[in-house]
Amino acid sequence: ASFDDFDLAPPVRQGVRDAGYTDPTPVQAATLPHALKGVDVVGVAQTGTGKTAAFVLPILDYLVREPVGGKKRPVRALVVTPTRELAIQVEEAVQTYGKATKLKSATIYGGVGKGGQRTALRNGVDVVVATPGRLLDFVGTKEIDLSFVDILVLDEADRMFDMGFVRDIRKIVAAVPEQRQTMLFSATMPPAIQDLARSILYKPETIEV
Ligand code: AMP
Repeated sequence: ASFDDFDLAPPVRQGVRDAGYTDPTPVQAATLPHALKGVDVVGVAQTGTGKTAAFVLPILDYLVREPVGGKKRPVRALVVTPTRELAIQVEEAVQTYGKATKLKSATIYGGVGKGGQRTALRNGVDVVVATPGRLLDFVGTKEIDLSFVDILVLDEADRMFDMGFVRDIRKIVAAVPEQRQTMLFSATMPPAIQDLARSILYKPETIEV
């Protein structure tokens, strides 16, 4: 497969080119056709397989095709990760692949002051990459509005489960619209994650690599 097989919006295609990628990895080749159509996806994939681009490229593609300008742009894509390190890594991918777009992103995680994150949210962002606890803090204080989220991604769902974030994830899911695209990525698929997937995804395509 080639990235040209997918009808990526030009600035997103450019972002892939700038990253220096020639061909999609197996998880990307399997995920992109479904994810770009807006279908829900369960991706069983480890870190290092290229899973990040498998969900970041569809997010960027959607946002570029459905632009919402202005200062008060709503958060329309939300990626939830178990750790601050992963949140930073995913947001870097959003920046890299999204460089040729005018989209804005922010990371939200605990363990640091809220000031910088609050400022970023006030300035308006299209994509938020967040860990569960701090995200829910900002939901609680109404400093983030998740009611315009069209795409929700749960990355490393099994790790989030192991870290005790299931209740938080359910609260986050309750704060985003029912009508949305949801993608769940997990290295493993124990019954608990299958249950979670069943309850928050709609007719998902399952990709295993
Ligand atoms: P991930 O599994 O998303 O953490 O990605 C693992 C590494 O693979 C990252 O350093 C990416 O930059 C790189 N990568 C992702 N997609 C591709 C691709 N299509 N071609 C070459 N490298 C890639």
